[in-house]
Amino acid sequence: MKYVSSRNSKVNITCSQAMIKGLAEDGGLFTPLLENEKIDLSGLKDISYKQLAERVISFFLRDFSKEEIVSCIEKAYDEKFDDKEITPLIDAGKFSILELWHGPTSAFKDLALTLLPHQLTKAYEKNGCKQTLAILTATSGDTGKAALASFADVKNTAITVFYPEVGVSDIQKKQMQTSKGNNVEVIAVKGNFDDCQRLVKKATTDPDILNGINNVTLSSANSINVGRLIPQVVYYYYAYLKLLKEGKINEGEEINFSVPTGNFGNILAGYLAKNSGLPIKKLICASNSNNILTDFINTGKYDLHRDFINTMSPSMDILISSNLERLLYLLSEDDQYIRDLMKKLETDGFYEVDKQIKEKINSDFAAYWSSEKDCEKMISYLFNEKHILIDPHTAVAADAYRKYKNETKDQTKTVVLSTASPYKFAGDVLKCLEIDERDPYKAMEKLGEISGMKIPQNLAELKDLPVRFTRAIEIEEGFETIRNRLKEISDAAY
Ligand SMILES: *Cc1c(COP(=O)(O)O)cnc(C)c1O
Repeated sequence: MKYVSSRNSKVNITCSQAMIKGLAEDGGLFTPLLENEKIDLSGLKDISYKQLAERVISFFLRDFSKEEIVSCIEKAYDEKFDDKEITPLIDAGKFSILELWHGPTSAFKDLALTLLPHQLTKAYEKNGCKQTLAILTATSGDTGKAALASFADVKNTAITVFYPEVGVSDIQKKQMQTSKGNNVEVIAVKGNFDDCQRLVKKATTDPDILNGINNVTLSSANSINVGRLIPQVVYYYYAYLKLLKEGKINEGEEINFSVPTGNFGNILAGYLAKNSGLPIKKLICASNSNNILTDFINTGKYDLHRDFINTMSPSMDILISSNLERLLYLLSEDDQYIRDLMKKLETDGFYEVDKQIKEKINSDFAAYWSSEKDCEKMISYLFNEKHILIDPHTAVAADAYRKYKNETKDQTKTVVLSTASPYKFAGDVLKCLEIDERDPYKAMEKLGEISGMKIPQNLAELKDLPVRFTRAIEIEEGFETIRNRLKEISDAAY
């Protein structure tokens, strides 16, 4: 399986090299080319999450041995997860909910980020690398903490996280500010997620920065790194096999997934699952009021001329969805075409894809969006009618599915991906249930009282943890900050 840059098909490297690099030097994203290979599903329905992860991840990471993959999985999916199923599937009546937030920071990002340091360490050994790996990460709220938790004090690595000063939830902010580890740095940026992501992408490909550092290799823990993407394919398979095991679907029957989408990483993993053989009918791309992807999938036009809106699903407050570039490359297999589109996006803030590409997108994807009001109604409906408590991101996906079903009358079994614990957004979730509590910790307790759901350990202890990081910078200071941080990492040689 080749990993090629979406902006230059001739750049063709192994998966472990792609993980170390993060982003290609030409700004492209490394993308696996499947060439009609499939994962054989027969006889798998009784296997555990970890065994399944071994199968699926081995399929994609060809230059890792089975033993290496098993060792990474054993270290990642252990008691850090508070459910032995890792990703339990819940029946919500009209659809199923796959809970992806039972990991150490209570968001789905944990499924990939608990693995990434172990995969990277192996990739490093394999490629004879000795330098300190400096991980730059932009976050809309959840990636930051998940990456900080997993890279804390990992040998030969140092991690720096940039988050938008306004927009992340109180709890997300406190999670990041209280991070432990000698090799971590957390910086607020006076801008939004797109500003943070632009900064990190630019710095990791900037010749000045790259030439100016000694003994340090730059990489990223964002979903632009293929190491993030592959572990996310596993739970699509897991949900399918679980439905099969419970007799809710027949072998070979197609199902839908509704995915709360921001940077397009999670849903792209679903696309890789489909292309590697999982019977998926539609991937429903669910957006909040930042509905640029809904418009794109329905019209073929990607248009940045719109306001950035802060919502109660902040991890989806994104206008520049990086991983969409991978989909466009897989569909067109034309690197020149991708270079032109991305250039146009940078200069004009707009592009439109060819009719053929749009048709291909519409055969695999549907797209809907939810207002804050829609999201509120869904949270309140599920809690009051089904006694299921969901967070605002999950509510967007559940609402998108409701709209999809109303419009298409499609009766296909559907799994809604649940990407964060409701406790991460306790105040907003309570507000949707018409209870006013501004203090985030009291809100968590209140939510616990009314739902009977256990507060995850990492969130329960948050209130009393000391704040370590309070630095905030202007967007313009970003480059200089990164330069200085890299010098510090180089001097310290973690
Ligand atoms: C990151 C995140 C998303 C969006 O996922 P993408 O892979 O960026 O599309 C949705 N919900 C939550 C809770 C998240 O943390």
